[in-house]
Amino acid sequence: MDISRGVLIVGAGISGLTLAIALRLQGIAADVAEIKADVSEQLGVGLSLQGNALAAFGKIGLSQAMLRVAVPGRYLNMRKPDGTLLAHHAIKPMGGAGYPSTAGISRSGLHQILISRAVELGAHLYMGVTLDHYTDQADRITVTLSNGAVKDYDLVVGADGIYSQVRGKIFPEIKPRRLGQLTWRVEVPRCLGTFTSELHFGGEFGVVGICPITEDRSYLYLIEAKTDDIRLAESELPRLMREKLASYTSSVVQDALSHLDACSVITVRPLETVLVPDRWYRGRVIIIGDAAHSGPPVLAQGAAMGVEDAVVLAESLAQTSSVNDAFEAFMARRWSRASMVVNNSVQLCEWEVRHEATPQQVGQLMHESQEILSQPF
Ligand SMILES: Cc1cc2nc3c(=O)[nH]c(=O)nc-3n(C[C@H](O)[C@H](O)[C@H](O)COP(=O)(O)OP(=O)(O)OC[C@H]3O[C@@H](n4cnc5c(N)ncnc54)[C@H](O)[C@@H]3O)c2cc1C
Repeated sequence: MDISRGVLIVGAGISGLTLAIALRLQGIAADVAEIKADVSEQLGVGLSLQGNALAAFGKIGLSQAMLRVAVPGRYLNMRKPDGTLLAHHAIKPMGGAGYPSTAGISRSGLHQILISRAVELGAHLYMGVTLDHYTDQADRITVTLSNGAVKDYDLVVGADGIYSQVRGKIFPEIKPRRLGQLTWRVEVPRCLGTFTSELHFGGEFGVVGICPITEDRSYLYLIEAKTDDIRLAESELPRLMREKLASYTSSVVQDALSHLDACSVITVRPLETVLVPDRWYRGRVIIIGDAAHSGPPVLAQGAAMGVEDAVVLAESLAQTSSVNDAFEAFMARRWSRASMVVNNSVQLCEWEVRHEATPQQVGQLMHESQEILSQPF
């Protein structure tokens, strides 16, 4: 297809930057408008790139760069709050045998790789800029950016996260909903001896986890059932987190807590979900990543789905003869997989909040999800 006017991507998160890279590799011009002035420091500490996310990065030549700064793993330890080992669980290698089952990575480290590769390939990043409005025409879309620039593109992609303003323009009726859980996350030095993710179940909170993200850093998180609005003073968070986890006597949790001090940056946010029904586009505007589908992080697949979306959208644009055909081809490959992740994650989260399911039911649904995610996308 002739995409000579190029693509405007709104949002320089994981999905938007990955799309910019994937498009440039197809020879398609990509501009990225990011509302923040700087995205190099990412809130939320770290995340797990599951095998399918690594395989998706592999399709655009980035998996080795990711693995150089990540902590690969094949297992996770499930423990009681006192540290007693319940299970040493092998994680399914969803990206195939060529990739580790999972890799813990710092969000800032991952972003630095994406930004430098996107710029190296010639994508233009406009920082501190957003999309003001657009006119969708027969053969182009004319956009006005918040810096006053007016430009024609072939299409606009909203990769602007769960509170997407682009989604608000094309699907104003669809809003995220809260799931009744809060997450607390903080980066801590990596405890000697923690080689894998350590998840604690059966205590006061849904899950208390520690995930290594670099050679010497980990991230500690807890998920608690809570529906109230959170109005906590930042300076109080380290003390509150220590108090909340006092009954978790597991040595890895207590070691992590011993490093919390007044300088610790703790992120507390409610878990929410949104799922746009089976067509994520109107005219020449499409949304991807968390803007289109976001669930709680139980399956650790949110970023993975955004990366897959980006790779598939770039392939669809390169392989079809019109924007509409490309969007149809994209949806045919993305809808059932991404909606399955959201629906199963929400189900797992609701079971946990309501204490409704047996460990066997939880294990079965996780297993089924991973089987599907192991299939090519
Ligand atoms: C607690 C927690 C743990 C998680 N753990 C994992 C995990 O282990 N593995 C995993 O795969 N996923 C995980 N996720 C999910 C993952 O973080 C998200 O799915 C992923 O970050 C979504 O990327 P995105 O680029 O689509 O959106 P975002 O990361 O939200 O990026 C959107 C970007 O758009 C910008 N933006 C917003 N509005 C505008 C605007 N109007 N104009 C221009 N720019 C705008 C934002 O500043 C941001 O840079 C987790 C999520 C949470 C909450």
